[in-house]
Amino acid sequence: MVEPLSSVIGQERALALLRRYLDAGAAPQGLLLSGEEGIGKEKAARAFAAALLCRRAGADGSCGTCPDCRLLATGAHPNFFFIAPEKQFLGIDEIRALQEELALKAFSDRPRVAILCPADRMTPQAANALLKTLEEPPPGAHLILVAHRTSVLMPTIVSRCQRVPFFPLPPETVAEIVSRHPDVAGGHPRPVILLAAAVSGGSPGRALSLLPDLADEREAWLALFTKLSPAGAIKVAESWKGEGDAPGRLAAPLSLVRDLSLLSSGGGADIMNEDLRGPLASAAVHPPAGGWTAFRELLSISRMPPQPQKRLMLEAFFFGLHGKG
Ligand SMILES: [Zn+2]
Repeated sequence: MVEPLSSVIGQERALALLRRYLDAGAAPQGLLLSGEEGIGKEKAARAFAAALLCRRAGADGSCGTCPDCRLLATGAHPNFFFIAPEKQFLGIDEIRALQEELALKAFSDRPRVAILCPADRMTPQAANALLKTLEEPPPGAHLILVAHRTSVLMPTIVSRCQRVPFFPLPPETVAEIVSRHPDVAGGHPRPVILLAAAVSGGSPGRALSLLPDLADEREAWLALFTKLSPAGAIKVAESWKGEGDAPGRLAAPLSLVRDLSLLSSGGGADIMNEDLRGPLASAAVHPPAGGWTAFRELLSISRMPPQPQKRLMLEAFFFGLHGKG
């Protein structure tokens, strides 16, 4: 299934640029789609490639029904190449194989399109080899580089490409995209999706990867907040000892603390973890000695660089909180 350009949500500026290239019938031979991971670059690259190969492309990209679109959908279009690292890096062998393909006579009058994703994982040898192709691209060949971190690309590569920047999305857009994702639809409570969106840095891809853990962490933290379980506290502390300030790590506990503070002060009309209102309300009746906001101390502990003390501090925090310090 080849999706249209409009399937990429929230990246209007990038899509407008890509549509302009299509309208003008003048797609650059080197394109660089840049921006955070998980915000739609690969999807846009695939939709754009499909539009270049399509015989009846319209304002929203490929038609989906012409012979080229059907061939592309089967994954067997001889003019389409998707180059991804087999292991950690994109190596020179992969680039050479692409160059050999592009050196052959084209299969038809259609353009040839290669997506390199992610291009920022090329080895220096691979990048140097690719540079030659970008400097003198074979007629009708288009290279679409998808890069999450442009800063690690060779400047000479960047300068040979037309840049199409993608931007982080607002949390509500992230939540909307995530809710509609087939892996998620109906599988997570709305508050967990909103939480994942809020700490995703504007990336639906990252929100999707955070979701399963967030759901579990919320349960684990709620249990810890309401009842001292030495085993539970030690388990959470153990999982923190090697971590720096991992994104999303504090989302679950801090959202619970916020809700507990609101509920214990008689507020709580708009708590974040609405689906846990029952257990939260009964927990809120018994705040710890320093009040629920004592949990803000977690913030400073979490921001410490990885070190063994971190585990001890976290354990001490929990035991102190429940009056056992
Ligand atoms: Zn078509």
